[in-house]
Amino acid sequence: MAREHARITTSLEMAGIDGGRVGLTREQVDALRSRVTGPLLRPGDERWPEAVRIWNGMAATMPALVLQPATPLDVAAAVRFARDQGLLLSIKGGGHNIAGTAAVERGLMLDMSQMREVRIDPRARLGIVGAGCRLKDVDQATQEHGLATVLGFISEVGVAGLTLGGGLGYLTRRFGWTVDNLEEVQIVTADGEIRVANRSQNADLFWALRGGGGNFGVVTRFTFRLHAVGPTVYGGLIAWPFERADEILDAYRTITTHASRELALWLVLLNAPPAPFVPEAWHHKRLCGMCVCYTGVPGKADDALAPIRALAGPVVDLLQAQPYTQVQSYLDGTEPNGLHYYWKTEYLPELSDRVLSTLRDLFAECPIPGGDLGVLHLEGALNSREADDGAVGNRDARFVVGVKGMWDAGEPNAEAYRRWVGEAGQRLRPFSTGATYINFQTADEDEGRVRATYGPNLQRLVEIKKTYDPANVFRVNRNIRPE
Ligand SMILES: Cc1cc2nc3c(=O)[nH]c(=O)nc-3n(C[C@H](O)[C@H](O)[C@H](O)COP(=O)(O)OP(=O)(O)OC[C@H]3O[C@@H](n4cnc5c(N)ncnc54)[C@H](O)[C@@H]3O)c2cc1C
Repeated sequence: MAREHARITTSLEMAGIDGGRVGLTREQVDALRSRVTGPLLRPGDERWPEAVRIWNGMAATMPALVLQPATPLDVAAAVRFARDQGLLLSIKGGGHNIAGTAAVERGLMLDMSQMREVRIDPRARLGIVGAGCRLKDVDQATQEHGLATVLGFISEVGVAGLTLGGGLGYLTRRFGWTVDNLEEVQIVTADGEIRVANRSQNADLFWALRGGGGNFGVVTRFTFRLHAVGPTVYGGLIAWPFERADEILDAYRTITTHASRELALWLVLLNAPPAPFVPEAWHHKRLCGMCVCYTGVPGKADDALAPIRALAGPVVDLLQAQPYTQVQSYLDGTEPNGLHYYWKTEYLPELSDRVLSTLRDLFAECPIPGGDLGVLHLEGALNSREADDGAVGNRDARFVVGVKGMWDAGEPNAEAYRRWVGEAGQRLRPFSTGATYINFQTADEDEGRVRATYGPNLQRLVEIKKTYDPANVFRVNRNIRPE
């Protein structure tokens, strides 16, 4: 952390604006400041280090200016300013994108952290969510009414980035991608206009936003459909010695074949952390586990979980009735801010014998102490919609598999670790649907991967990009070019 702080401080010293790298004059910066109500930060400001910090230390870059908009009008002023000055513009929701696209070197970052309001309409079952919200803001507010929408597993992740890339989590099997539950957005487009998009108003833009990422403007507000979930669900981590991997992997396949949509299971091959919930004898040892979330009626939980319980002899067993918000946050400490992260992922149509043995072999060979492999079961609601129901597509995906590496800044084996993750990804590629989750793509994925991910929806996305952002103002992202 000290090293990270020192690195940021050095970059700050280098990032002076006046006479500096972006060629903005003090008058121009002052002109922007006079048009906005939220704070406009410059290097050296007290709030600067927190504003520019992103989750993946490996992808960190140093903007020239940060605006923390307080209103959609602030966003509109900033979009016009960036466009007129030819400044690169990035948008930070929760700062968790692995490719580091929340920040842009020498550009203007919009840090949406001032817009974190959540309003729930329990009668209409709708949640109106500010674009700077983290997942926990929404889960906590909706759970006060026994409601939830489809969000991910780590509560610090930003709602905006997750949603615009599709969004998946424990509720995906029941309710589809997060964007299948999106009802409306308010957005500032490249022309600086504030628009509302939903299924009947600006419907093409709304279609594109349901998976097309940050390519079409700055979303200032999301409206989500909510469902009755919790507040008590059954979940937690349960894990066995890695020596039993063949048995556990095979059981995972069988259980996921028959499980009702209320049971979501994430298979994880991991090195046990030295955490209090792991018996000391198992610290740093290889484990084969499942992260479980059952959201059906409590009376049926025992039956639903019976096939998991039948795998006797776990060395970690946190599987119990607990608040939904706890299931949504107990993994928070596992991927701390600022470390270096590198992932490869693929969508899978099925779990063949070859997939399972490859996963086992890869984890047995994994040289990274903070490395893990995981498989998420997605099958269910998302498969029953048409492929062009929103830009997200990938409605043939039944699982998503990922290889993840995590290490400290300055790790001497970093290059070897990164290479290993890349090669492991290549070994999983033959089993893929051909696409990968856009929100898990690293900065070094080529455009071909973006094209494959959108598949038949790409051409329509390009047409909508041409309409709403012909100059590609919004290009600090997994970019869809207007051509
Ligand atoms: C530890 C961890 C756990 C994760 N778990 C899950 C999970 O369970 N499920 C899941 O689906 N994904 C998960 N992800 C992936 C996650 O969805 C993406 O990393 C996503 O981009 C994070 O959103 P963010 O707002 O935090 O990202 P940021 O880095 O802040 O933003 C990423 C991009 O989103 C766009 N964007 C952000 N805000 C706006 C806005 N207001 N308007 C327009 N565009 C905007 C921009 O293009 C921006 O570059 C996880 C990621 C991490 C690091």
